[in-house]
Amino acid sequence: MKVHGKCHCGQITYSAEVDSEKVSLCHCADCQMLTGSAYRVNVPAAKENFVLHTGKPSSYLKTADSGNKRMHTFCGNCGTPVYSSAATDPQSFSLRVGCLDERAQLPPKRQIWCGSAVPWSIDLKLVPSLGKQ
Ligand SMILES: [Zn+2]
Ligand SMILES: [Zn+2]
Repeated sequence: MKVHGKCHCGQITYSAEVDSEKVSLCHCADCQMLTGSAYRVNVPAAKENFVLHTGKPSSYLKTADSGNKRMHTFCGNCGTPVYSSAATDPQSFSLRVGCLDERAQLPPKRQIWCGSAVPWSIDLKLVPSLGKQ
């Protein structure tokens, strides 16, 4: 599937080709903190299928508890997360689904790190719901 992404302020724009079967939802504590939310939704794009159209993303090298390093790329102006990748010579980019125009067509196909999920994030059906604020 062809996808089109942008950050909130619009400085960074990109497009990519992704496999909608590979969308995953991550409940790890790092994703909770780095998004400021309960979980993150990602879809990978191979390096050759990703095109940065405008903007100069900033990056943050995250070191996990395991010692594993991961580069997190975001807009330095508005702070929107754009993707993460290997720290050196990345061959693929883990795109943040919330920044993609096609996000409604990219439901997660699996959840990972469920052991650290915020318990209330698993089922929101009973929470009162408003169409807008
Ligand atoms: Zn921005
Ligand atoms: Zn995570």
